[in-house]
Amino acid sequence: MSYLSCPNCGLTISGQAINQDGVLYCCQGCADRTCCSCRVSWSESFRRLEELSRLPANWDSYGAAPISPKAIARAREFLFVLRDAFASHAPEQFMPLNIAPIADGGLQFEWERQNRLLEIEFTADGHTISFVAEGTAPNRRSTGKTGLSTTEALDLVASVLDLPIGSWVSW
Ligand SMILES: [Zn+2]
Ligand SMILES: [Zn+2]
Repeated sequence: MSYLSCPNCGLTISGQAINQDGVLYCCQGCADRTCCSCRVSWSESFRRLEELSRLPANWDSYGAAPISPKAIARAREFLFVLRDAFASHAPEQFMPLNIAPIADGGLQFEWERQNRLLEIEFTADGHTISFVAEGTAPNRRSTGKTGLSTTEALDLVASVLDLPIGSWVSW
């Protein structure tokens, strides 16, 4: 099985593609060649973190912990790192597709491009964990790493999204 990616933004096209003149796009925004609406926007991301910071204990009804202020702070900081690295040349492409709470009080950002999925998790105690999955079953491979530095996390985002890091190109 081959992957179809959006010609405007590079996102993997899943179920609900928009067909415009025989070309498939990930969403109407990309079909119009404006901006992709599949990703969390810059302002939405901060709203989302604010929401997550107010989740009560047991938010999943299975005894989940409230999201830790450390995880929220790390996530917020990482958004600025991403913006500094990519905003000048890929303003719409670097934002995650999803920002999700984790039951132990952490949270994660999710990205995807072609056949690669990347999750960066900020744990309740302020550590960073990565998970990368690529390929399809039965050849799906995944790798994970704990205790990532900010630079390592940024490099992973750049590699999965196939975006150069800004300061390298402008230097
Ligand atoms: Zn797109
Ligand atoms: Zn889109």
